[in-house]
Amino acid sequence: MKFVSTRGQTPALGFSDAVATGLAPDGGLYLPETLPQFTAADLARFQRLGYAELCFEFLKLFATDIEPSVLRSIIARSYTKFSHPDIAPIVTLDERTSVLELFHGPTLAFKDFALQLLGNLYEHQCATRHQSINVLGATSGDTGSAAIHGLRGKPGTAIFILYPDGRTSPLQERQMACTEADNVYALAINGSFDDAQAALKDIFADQTFRTHHRLSAVNSINLARVLAQCVYYLYAYLRLSAATRNETEFVVPTGNFGNVLAGWMLQKMGVPIRSFKVATNQNDILHRLFTTGDYRVSAVTPSLAPSMDIQVSSNFERFLYLSEGRDAAKVREVMQTFKTTGGYKFENFNRDTFSASRCDDVRIPGIIKSVYERFHYIVDPHTACAFADLAKDRPSLVLATASPAKFPDTIKAAIGVEPTDPSLELLKKRPLKKHLLKADTGAIRAFIDANAV
Ligand SMILES: *Cc1c(COP(=O)(O)O)cnc(C)c1O
Repeated sequence: MKFVSTRGQTPALGFSDAVATGLAPDGGLYLPETLPQFTAADLARFQRLGYAELCFEFLKLFATDIEPSVLRSIIARSYTKFSHPDIAPIVTLDERTSVLELFHGPTLAFKDFALQLLGNLYEHQCATRHQSINVLGATSGDTGSAAIHGLRGKPGTAIFILYPDGRTSPLQERQMACTEADNVYALAINGSFDDAQAALKDIFADQTFRTHHRLSAVNSINLARVLAQCVYYLYAYLRLSAATRNETEFVVPTGNFGNVLAGWMLQKMGVPIRSFKVATNQNDILHRLFTTGDYRVSAVTPSLAPSMDIQVSSNFERFLYLSEGRDAAKVREVMQTFKTTGGYKFENFNRDTFSASRCDDVRIPGIIKSVYERFHYIVDPHTACAFADLAKDRPSLVLATASPAKFPDTIKAAIGVEPTDPSLELLKKRPLKKHLLKADTGAIRAFIDANAV
């Protein structure tokens, strides 16, 4: 299988190279050159598999340049640090509402599903190519900690994570800055998440710097992340009852559009998921896009659901490419107009099976409280956004993207109960090791020059 760029101006690559490259040299994002099509017989066969085996059956169709027995072992190792035997359990709240819990990994958020795997893929690559890798990422909270926990202590790697100083939750910061691993650098930037992401894009645009340090991206633009995330949609689909699985709407708390994109791509591979709801917080570029066809940036307002505090959803470009029939020229036109004018108005926006909801900070505590009172179930502030506007005409499966224990203050204020988790209690006892930097490409490059492996 080869992987092509959404901007169509760079050669196709194999899986391992596309994963190592991250952002394509032409500024685009990698996608499979064709999507496999699953039949009813495939789905019946998949039904019997446990999580890691299902993941192997899925990924072997894409990672065709990795020997199957090696791939299987990389995948098996990637899901051993999850604390629930089902890896991604479904909790039924009532006959119309269930929750897919994606927070049983080492950093208690859904990003562990992709980043535990990505860490092991990088390790494999270092070993087979006899080369070190420097991983660089920007995070609004959970990506950084999940990436760090995927790579901490792995020989031949260093990881640099940029995050907006003071805008992640204290526990998210501790997960990044209290790892006690020598190859981990938590870089607190004086600016917003979008400033961090802009600096990252600048650094990756410099081919010389990038090649010199063998830099790799770990953001949700990385191909391996999207593919790894397809798997829990497949797993969940197969675990819904036969009577409801083709009726159920998957409701997804969304920021960079990486999570929900994976579900939608799986649907395009022939898995008959009925529809998706894109649930945003008050930073609602995607809600505006899916309701009006206008894709337009505005300022970021920090919210109670910080991992969704972004105004430019990088993975939207992948949706655009696929929904426009792989028209790379169209993608270039949209992205260029968007870059120069801050927006793009689609005349006939193709929503496919997406709808959208929006939830501002005023509503989040009330939703946490009402879910708790109705179901005796505690949702984190991101998952709460997904409960803002559930469909009336079909069952909903809400993707719970983080453990409530990561946001104890918001939960306590809403319901008077403070959730906790043993792994987080441990972190509070460790010293914080972070590096304060200006949101300035020069300062960040100098830091990487001094510390890269
Ligand atoms: C990252 C994150 C999101 C947003 O996911 P995207 O892939 O960026 O849409 C939602 N909730 C939590 C808890 C997250 O960490």
